[in-house]
Amino acid sequence: MLNYNKSMIWNMTRNCNFQCSYCYFPHQNTKIENPISTSTLLNFLSTNNDKWLVGMTGGEPFIYPNFVSLCEAITQKHYIGVDTNLSLSKQIKEFAKRISPSRVNDIYASLHIEEREKRNAVTQFIENYHTLANAGFTIKVNYVLHPLMEDRYQNDIDFFKKNGVPITPRPFKGMFEGKKYPQNYSEESKHIFALHPEAGIKMVFNFRGVDCDGGHSFIRMEPDGTIFRCPGDRTVLGNIHDSVSLYESATPCNVNRCPCQGVHYVKLNPAENWFIEGMRSFITGAEKSAANAFRQTLLYDSEHSSALNNIGVFAFSNNDIPHAKRLFKHAARIHPNIALYRKNLALTESADPETQQLGASPQLSEIVRPSAFLAEKIDTE
Ligand code: SF4
Ligand code: SF4
Repeated sequence: MLNYNKSMIWNMTRNCNFQCSYCYFPHQNTKIENPISTSTLLNFLSTNNDKWLVGMTGGEPFIYPNFVSLCEAITQKHYIGVDTNLSLSKQIKEFAKRISPSRVNDIYASLHIEEREKRNAVTQFIENYHTLANAGFTIKVNYVLHPLMEDRYQNDIDFFKKNGVPITPRPFKGMFEGKKYPQNYSEESKHIFALHPEAGIKMVFNFRGVDCDGGHSFIRMEPDGTIFRCPGDRTVLGNIHDSVSLYESATPCNVNRCPCQGVHYVKLNPAENWFIEGMRSFITGAEKSAANAFRQTLLYDSEHSSALNNIGVFAFSNNDIPHAKRLFKHAARIHPNIALYRKNLALTESADPETQQLGASPQLSEIVRPSAFLAEKIDTE
């Protein structure tokens, strides 16, 4: 167990030596200008005798000047995690030699298979994985299941398994050929995600109004040292080259999208925790677990309109129209201002259970607190 009281996502650089077609960073492969000096970083981390977990991400962290020495310096007292494409073999060997695995949380290695094939570097990925694994590091290999990759995923997973590399699929988030993902994955892909409940861990939620430790014990740092409250809220708390004022305690979230890890920092009640579990299961296609989690939500909060609505969606897709109708009605009674509940109710009223011509599928809406807590809207079509 790592013993830290604060954590930071450090977006070290937007640069990267890869050029994945689905990347959402502009990925130049130019020299990184004005890197943050080790002493500036250590001075900041040592304020108040805190112990930090520094999550190093990019772009590609291993291209950062003197990356391994920087990791060595941070891990004397603090901890690190690294997101990497695992492509810089020399630096990876150096890292494995000089950094203690006991000071490293997880290494998230992304397997960008098309990019690797283009570079004839598939074997290199396997070798670099084993260099780190043999040195005692925990490496989680992610594979972004882009819709274009759906056909080849199974072969890839078998190939890497044979070579001692376990893979976790990650949902692609975005538009492809006019369809929104992850909502529009095929049943086969949903089945793949259902085998990997951890795949939905990075789902986007809306926690506006909920107390959160973002800005207090969790922050994000930009390449130039600017400190934001968190990955989702760009409220500037200072710059490590100058001064930084962190919040003294948890304060309400002010934004509609919490893209990353915020779920570990918001103060949720048991009903909300179950609801989040339900949504994570839902996004990975594990509908039974999702339905169970929504039912648990209702045990703690029988007026939880989102859980009612979402169980209604499952009832609807199982053709139990009367049950779906009751649930949508109940949700709409609790929050008459939520158009989605009314829309879902109208759909059950117009549905013809005999022909099962249900019209457009209903949507999942995730309102936990009427004014405070919305999760990302998900189409079930
Ligand atoms: S390796 Fe990651 S950061 Fe680099 S181009 Fe690919 S997706 Fe973007
Ligand atoms: S809930 Fe997410 S976006 Fe909101 S303050 Fe917390 S970490 Fe930031």
